Amino acid sequence: MSILKTDSERLKRFLTEIAVFGATENGGVTRLALTDEDRDARNQLKAWFEEAGCETHVDRMGNMFFVRPGRNRDLAPVLTGSHCDSQPQGGRFDGILGIVAGLEVVCALNDAGITLERDFIVVNWTNEEGSRFTPGTTGSGVFAGKLEREAMYGLTDRNGLTFGAELERIGYKGVEDFDPRPLHANFEYHIEQGPVLERQGKTIGVPKGIVCLRWYDVDIKGVPNHAGPTPMNERQDAVYAFSKMAVNIFEIGLASNDVVTTVGEVHPQPNSRNVIAGDVHFTIDIRGWDETETDRVCSEVEEAIRKNAEATGCSVDIRQTWAVERAPFQPELVELIHEKAGELGLPALDMVSGASHDTVYINQFAPSAMIFVPSIGGRSHAEVEETSWADCTAGADTLLHCILKTGNDPEGVTYAMAD
Ligand SMILES: [Zn+2]
Repeated sequence: MSILKTDSERLKRFLTEIAVFGATENGGVTRLALTDEDRDARNQLKAWFEEAGCETHVDRMGNMFFVRPGRNRDLAPVLTGSHCDSQPQGGRFDGILGIVAGLEVVCALNDAGITLERDFIVVNWTNEEGSRFTPGTTGSGVFAGKLEREAMYGLTDRNGLTFGAELERIGYKGVEDFDPRPLHANFEYHIEQGPVLERQGKTIGVPKGIVCLRWYDVDIKGVPNHAGPTPMNERQDAVYAFSKMAVNIFEIGLASNDVVTTVGEVHPQPNSRNVIAGDVHFTIDIRGWDETETDRVCSEVEEAIRKNAEATGCSVDIRQTWAVERAPFQPELVELIHEKAGELGLPALDMVSGASHDTVYINQFAPSAMIFVPSIGGRSHAEVEETSWADCTAGADTLLHCILKTGNDPEGVTYAMAD
């Protein structure tokens, strides 16, 4: 008996046609949240899902829920989905792949004449990227009860337009909430956005969870002075201090056991070519799967910063501004993805997710797992972002079989929440 598959050509058509909304010259998309492009993509999704027999619900955050009714509508539904917004000059796979693959699963089930036991819901979460309105993952964050809706409505973009007004303008501010909880299972299918799968020649990435994260803000204080007359041995140069710190921070990450350290923002003051900088403000982002190792790296980084400040005659203020614990996914669902990939003959790899996703929030109240497929060259958040059509289909097939299994779980079967 042949195993049920998604339709590769149809999935490719969905992906190609949705990429028109916000298409850039170099093959990417700029589809920032709550813009006309976002609205047009939403309208297209709605049309496709309704054509495929789904009900549409839009909640007060503009999250779109496309529901394919199951046989027993009293049972907890299974859910998949991602986001259709993008970064500026972003790629045409990030986020949207997870939604159109959900649509393709609906179509494949329709073609096969299969009614699942449970409702199957595909979601488009509003503003995952957080590029126009910061923070990101706002739709899923409010849904999870971790972000406050009114506060999110008040977020402004750089032109002073508010999230709430823009949501209303594009016609996606729902008048009531839609709450399908409790959820039986949640799968998010997403491109890897890193190079690991490609390097290892694997098709399906099965993250056991999302790494923990620590953010720091650091302020170095030196003495601003004239770039000419001040002798080298009498300087308290904040840029010099920063440079030594940045080198150490990189090397501490490099020497660690799978912890990554990034200095992302640097602001020297006064930022003038003939002035020795009196101040440098910079940020550090540290992530790892192992919390103990990550905290060890944090201590080492803090120590290196203090040591270099002292050695350069500067003072320093270090503040940890954000700390997020790692989020393990539901182990039986993680195992199920492995099992289904195996049955489909797809080589799979255990990994962790270094990036944040909507599922970080959903995972806090519903059994969740993610499916990754390779990003060519490991590139993402860029127009060159690419995943082969074959890999897009492989991920969709894996998703289809995870939905077939969990969507047909009889009453009484439950997946314990991951701890
Ligand atoms: Zn994404």
